[in-house]
Amino acid sequence: MCAQPAVGLGITLSVLAESESAAAALVVPSAPVGEHTSIEDVLAFAEHCDVVTFDHEHVPADVLAALVDSGVSVHPRPDALVYAQDKLAMRRRLTELGVPCPAWAEVRDEGELEAFGAEHGWPVVLKTPRGGYDGKGVRVIGSAAEARDWPLADGLLVEEAVPFSRELAVLVARSPMGQCAVWPVVETVQTDGICTEVLAPAPGLPDDLAAAASQAALTIAGALDVTGVMAVELFEVPVGDESDSGTTGFVVNELAMRPHNSGHWTIDGAVTSQFEQHLRAVLDLPLGDPRSRDRWTVMGNVLGGEYPELYPTYRHLMARDPAMKFHHYGKDVRPGRKIGHVNVGGDDLDDLRERARHATQFLQGVITE
Ligand code: ADP
Repeated sequence: MCAQPAVGLGITLSVLAESESAAAALVVPSAPVGEHTSIEDVLAFAEHCDVVTFDHEHVPADVLAALVDSGVSVHPRPDALVYAQDKLAMRRRLTELGVPCPAWAEVRDEGELEAFGAEHGWPVVLKTPRGGYDGKGVRVIGSAAEARDWPLADGLLVEEAVPFSRELAVLVARSPMGQCAVWPVVETVQTDGICTEVLAPAPGLPDDLAAAASQAALTIAGALDVTGVMAVELFEVPVGDESDSGTTGFVVNELAMRPHNSGHWTIDGAVTSQFEQHLRAVLDLPLGDPRSRDRWTVMGNVLGGEYPELYPTYRHLMARDPAMKFHHYGKDVRPGRKIGHVNVGGDDLDDLRERARHATQFLQGVITE
């Protein structure tokens, strides 16, 4: 999705593609095929690049080190990226920075897990520090025995089960010269562990909470020397006792250092999209305005479903809702896989949500009218 803004900015993109039919290879003319885990492939690819950046966080540390050693300009730099790759490293650093986090610990055996549960209450949330996405690598457990089939000896992250009222995300961009831009805080709605809807801005979010969340994202971006776009995923939590009912705060769930699903609304809903901003940031160009274009923007994720033929459904939806924007990734359709999204903006949030929900369900084949 960086391809479109790259055209506008006059930047030539090249993508290291996993296959000739990879979604990015279909839209980026220079798409050599190679493995992101191979030092040889990545170095050969980088030889022709001014700057190398990422659309996922799974490039191994030795590949990143080889890139840096060979003098390639890499953004975000490996020293920052590690906090998006390793949830234990992220918890340690954010705690040092004083950023609100759930109670957490590193555990290596059942005894340590038992002790954490006894102190913070069961159930707890157990996470593999690396390699998780869309809820994979996260498990809610009611006792230490339930973790027996997980590699405790490797060191796992355990967290209190946060009684959150909803999930939020703040997207920030930072350039090597230190310029930052923050988009409005959004609400992310999850269904079965997968984000299905994003509401921008988060409805009913108190101004002071939005400001504190934005400030936390700026603090993290600066302290970690992040370059490019970073998403900070948050849980909104009740604070204080019954008498402060309605007062909320936040704790950070995790970081992503790349354009992120919680920012797909910005393509149509913000003056500068996260994809354009990421290019500007990694190239150390002045950043664009992150403000919203509409009072509300709703993003609906299209998940793979029973309807492999997407184009006939487009005709119906385009005719039904000419103001709706479609983004189709050209990926193979697999149940539950994010294969596209829709954006719709305006003044009536309920109406926008209804239209986005109708479109995504129709595209998935959940409804046929
Ligand atoms: P992933 O890396 O797969 O995105 P996350 O750490 O974001 O994993 O966790 C996936 C989901 O699990 C979150 O969106 C949230 O709904 C739930 N979750 C994660 N951590 C906690 C926690 N400490 N307390 C309660 N729910 C949590």
